[in-house]
Amino acid sequence: MNCPVCNCGTKNINSVYLLGLIESSTYYCPNCGLYFRTPLPSIEAIYSYYTSRYFRYPESIEMEMARRQGSFILRKLSNEQIDLSKINYLEFGAGRGWVLSYLQSFGSINSTMGIEPDEVSVRWGRENLEVNLNKGTLNEDLITEISLNYPETNLISLIHVLEHLHNPFELLALLKKNLKEHFLFLEIPNAEQEGPVMKIDTFPWSSMGQHFWSFSAKSLRLSLENCGYQIISLETEGNPHYWDRSIERLSLWNRYFNFISEKQRYGDLNLMDFFTATCNLVARNGIIKVKSLVAPKYTRLDLPIIRILAKSA
Ligand SMILES: [Zn+2]
Repeated sequence: MNCPVCNCGTKNINSVYLLGLIESSTYYCPNCGLYFRTPLPSIEAIYSYYTSRYFRYPESIEMEMARRQGSFILRKLSNEQIDLSKINYLEFGAGRGWVLSYLQSFGSINSTMGIEPDEVSVRWGRENLEVNLNKGTLNEDLITEISLNYPETNLISLIHVLEHLHNPFELLALLKKNLKEHFLFLEIPNAEQEGPVMKIDTFPWSSMGQHFWSFSAKSLRLSLENCGYQIISLETEGNPHYWDRSIERLSLWNRYFNFISEKQRYGDLNLMDFFTATCNLVARNGIIKVKSLVAPKYTRLDLPIIRILAKSA
């Protein structure tokens, strides 16, 4: 399997029952640092999976995330000496509209609009944040509709969207091709820290390791350049130890299940082995719990991420 970004050879690092829908494998590209899964569920199956599972962070966290994202956008555009009063912002997967609200109150941007598939979020954002938020799903038809009805759009934003898409490269190419000259803002989890989690988190009940794509700074930069975008600024943020405890806990469960399945495969799993392994698991899990009482507590704001501003010209 060659890397879809840099075309180099990749390593198959595990098998995973992706979203509880399909037997898939995780690949890692040592050249550009991309992690990806294949095969993926169908576009329809992904859509119905995400519309039935919606997750929100506490309001104070969502507001602070939006402040960081919004201020990055305004700062970088100002550095480029862009006249903000000529910017028409469009965010796909805008959630409840926190970034729209931030840009509306703190920027002098001409217009802001968000598209979000979840109806409850759309209603909440309209009523509570008074933002221009509309229900819709990101696909080729929607991009065509935007290009016809909102040709003034010149700043596209995709915040934690790429990692969930069936084909992010096709989407970037569609945006580049169909919309007039524009800026593109992206935020995604950083594969440098998230990758090791994707490598060991193959548990069907886990939602942490279920991204389809995990981009490193290099693979994201290359993906955009391959589509004809020019990078203006790339920044990373977050605590590099954010995933440490999850990795410790997942490794422990992995060792336990590997031991049991190895023993089963050779038909020599006896009650004593099972009992010893289980006691070991419980004891080590207890140690992790005690350690976590005194360890620093991280919030979603500490998640290691990459932010990028690019332009289509
Ligand atoms: Zn690669």
